[in-house]
Amino acid sequence: MASLGNVFDVDKSKNFSEWYSEIIKQAGLCDLRYNVKGFVVFMPWAVASIKKMYALFEQELEATGHKPALFPAVIPEENFLKEKEHVEGFAPEVFWVTEGGGGKLEQRLALRPTSETAMYKMYSLWIQGASDLPLKIYQSCQVWRHETKATRPFIRSREFYWIEAHDVFATMREAEEQVRQDMQTTEKVMHGVLGVPFIYFKRPEWDKFAGAVHTFGADSLMPDGKTIQQPSTHLLGQNFAKPFNVCYADEKGKKQYCWQTCYGPAISRIYASVISVHGDNKGLVLPFEIAPIQVIVIPIPRKGVEEKVGAKARETAAALREHGFRAEADEGSATPGFKYNYWEMKGVPLRVEVGERELESKQFVVARRDTGEKTVVPEKELPKKIGELGKTLSENLRKRADEWFAKQIHSANSMDELSEQLDKGGFVKIPLCSVEMAGKNCADEIKSKTTGDVRGVRVDKPENPAAGSKCIACGKPAKEIVYVARQY
Ligand SMILES: [Zn+2]
Repeated sequence: MASLGNVFDVDKSKNFSEWYSEIIKQAGLCDLRYNVKGFVVFMPWAVASIKKMYALFEQELEATGHKPALFPAVIPEENFLKEKEHVEGFAPEVFWVTEGGGGKLEQRLALRPTSETAMYKMYSLWIQGASDLPLKIYQSCQVWRHETKATRPFIRSREFYWIEAHDVFATMREAEEQVRQDMQTTEKVMHGVLGVPFIYFKRPEWDKFAGAVHTFGADSLMPDGKTIQQPSTHLLGQNFAKPFNVCYADEKGKKQYCWQTCYGPAISRIYASVISVHGDNKGLVLPFEIAPIQVIVIPIPRKGVEEKVGAKARETAAALREHGFRAEADEGSATPGFKYNYWEMKGVPLRVEVGERELESKQFVVARRDTGEKTVVPEKELPKKIGELGKTLSENLRKRADEWFAKQIHSANSMDELSEQLDKGGFVKIPLCSVEMAGKNCADEIKSKTTGDVRGVRVDKPENPAAGSKCIACGKPAKEIVYVARQY
């Protein structure tokens, strides 16, 4: 199975960008040669993990009362024009379909950049009375945005894969509760299972989703210290319900507009964080839950016992598959050492070595990808031990990432200090006059002087500026502690 490529060897801590490009190529995650700019082909080793990540999020959404649906990829322009801020925010990024069947279309169609204006059109038909609420629908699909920033596979491209959940409620209180639930879903899957740490920020007024009352974005960090926005959840209030007439008749028969939320985990982008945060100088390190192959069994043939060792490796992999693990035996012609390196580069969590000695002793050596640690396991205990080691490995990845993440939060009290801290990477806490529109000029000044973006106010724990502290841009009294970072 092992191909005869180069063994991975790039220093991630010194040159993350090169590391990322190399791992994409060598692990066979993307093919960048497709002939439309900003569009890439996702390859099987990546898609196998991405599908498992989809399943994790879908399972959690369904457990919290969401139902799946699939809406058309094209949105007529008339829908799109209904909410003013939304159209202003998205218009520059939309791909338009203008022709079909050899003729010009009567109305041009947007390739969905996000589906509010497709789904809410139908919601207005579906919701009549209070008994139709809450309505909680998600779809797993791809969206298209004509990005002008530099594209990077999985991180930013003109087509990406996500889930969008769009919920409707009778009251604002329920909508606010949903936003909290969306943040918990992110915590449970992205951090709890995939081991990617993040902080939820309430975005400043000037950086909200187009059409939202409030936006909450989960910001993670890449190994180069730049932040990357992960799942965001938006409180839409009645901003879409009014133009789309999403309403119900209350018990008195009076028309009431609904309250809405939307939540968008971009699965392909979360995959970028998973490979970047956990990977090392040998290549990928994949959490056990999403690894396309969880256990690779490597036969170590000696002269005269090749057949026996090969058969045992096959049998061991088959036995593990029967216990529900994704296990394969690599019986290719490469040397065991080459195979070790190859599967380590691909990020396979556990390796089982099968040699002549193992045949006699009925014990196997199991090696962990994250620590390199080896354990000797009696054959009959192998499935149980594989399950335990897989769990331990994922927990260790999360713990390691958390420890690293905790060290990436700094603080500053002046523009110079902020600039200096941002050069080290990570988040920098600063006092700011305001996160309402009044603070926008200060955020712009910070951006132009330091290239840092104001990410917002931390959601999980309130932080107040010390008495007498001043906005680092305008010098007025600071009302907020905000986090600044350079971003992807
Ligand atoms: Zn200010």
